[in-house]
Amino acid sequence: MIPAEAYEAVIGLEIHVQLKTRSKLFCACRNRFGDPPNVHTCPVCLGMPGALPVLNGSAVHHAVRTAVALGCRVNHRSRFARKHYFYPDLPKGYQISQYDQPLAEHGELSFYLAEDRHTLGIERVHLEEDAGKSVHDGLPGTENSALVDLNRCGVPLVEIVSTHELRSPDAAHAFLTALRSTLRYLDVTDASMQEGSLRCDANVSVRRCGEAELNPKTEIKNLNSFRFVRRALRFEIDEQVGMLEAGQSLVPCTKLWDERSNRTVAMRSKEEAQDYRYFPEPDLVPIQIGAAEIETALGSIPELPAARIERFVSTLGLPLADAAALVEDGAIADFFEALVAAGAEPSEADNWVRVRVMRCLNERGWRMSEFPVLAPQLAELLQAVRVGTISVATAEEVLVKMIANGQTAERIIEDENLRQISRAEDLAPLVEHVLRANPDEVAAFRAGRHQVFGFLMGEIMNASQGKANPELAETLLRAGLEK
Ligand code: ZN
Ligand code: MN
Repeated sequence: MIPAEAYEAVIGLEIHVQLKTRSKLFCACRNRFGDPPNVHTCPVCLGMPGALPVLNGSAVHHAVRTAVALGCRVNHRSRFARKHYFYPDLPKGYQISQYDQPLAEHGELSFYLAEDRHTLGIERVHLEEDAGKSVHDGLPGTENSALVDLNRCGVPLVEIVSTHELRSPDAAHAFLTALRSTLRYLDVTDASMQEGSLRCDANVSVRRCGEAELNPKTEIKNLNSFRFVRRALRFEIDEQVGMLEAGQSLVPCTKLWDERSNRTVAMRSKEEAQDYRYFPEPDLVPIQIGAAEIETALGSIPELPAARIERFVSTLGLPLADAAALVEDGAIADFFEALVAAGAEPSEADNWVRVRVMRCLNERGWRMSEFPVLAPQLAELLQAVRVGTISVATAEEVLVKMIANGQTAERIIEDENLRQISRAEDLAPLVEHVLRANPDEVAAFRAGRHQVFGFLMGEIMNASQGKANPELAETLLRAGLEK
């Protein structure tokens, strides 16, 4: 039996991203998630005979911005094509997509895996319309029926197709995280997998390391979280390696990830492009993108996550993994930068934001914008630690109170009398008191049992209600014991 390490995975991803526009791609219907079924429909998106599509310019604009942000070459001329298939949620019997002349090609995106920077090629970025949604977990009285909601039918999508250079499920996960972050920075989408505004299909094959030829691949659909992408790929890789090892041959197929059984299940044999009977969409003129439009799009791109990570590392000295964690959500990175601008040390701000602020956001399900403490207020708290007014432990408690009641750090420290005891003349009597109250331990220490030092320190901290400056207390205690 050849070990699994003798194989490598060849993974490519196809990501569908719903664009944030007011109306759909080819009609004036609202592009909005979460409304009652079938309220956003018209003859165009219902595929009525004779209805004609009209291209939504702002969808094109978002798609061009996405393409240039991914370093793609935007084609000056691209065109739509009809992709035919039959499914109840596709009333026209075809999807208007792009085929032989896509909007943009040949881009790349950097992502970070552990401490390494990787770059994955982007084969193409094209525009297409979304299909409607089949609803199977229906309403009372419709248990044996499939229902259809066409609100989503005609919603603008960009499809982003990566090259097949990913070699592990973890790399796929890291790439998707970087892509989602980039799309959110561009503000072209909500990029929510729960709401289906970011959807991912993964295709994967395996081959013996060193082989150049590709084996038949499996396409996995229905991956509605990044976690499932990673799990499904792992499962599929193991399965394919197992089959090859058992001497079975692989066939190209399309599978679904079944989250209940934690496995991929066969859906159908994979269709070939010819099955879709592509042909140019006769009802729409080609899309023409001039140099000026590309300039404008380039000018509208904010600093993107990859560049921001580099900057946090090179100018603020943060470790790469920390920078990547801070930058993923732009609002969190903004808060971090505001904290540094308000006087916090970068390493200290990094620590507080990644550990304490982000933990609070996770626990409460808050977005950064819902965090009630502003960056300058948190900077004030960190300042109080830096100058020794309070200890780090006290500062953590103060932050909890700031979150709960919205008061400033200074006010809480004063009102609750939390100031650290940092002057020798204030702390010395307390140390004296502890020494006198614990004659046995003092004697033991002097007899060489130095481990009682920790106990005595604990007594000082208790007696001061946690307010003793630890370094000063240690100095005074040591002096007292050595007298
Ligand atoms: Zn419509
Ligand atoms: Mn597609």
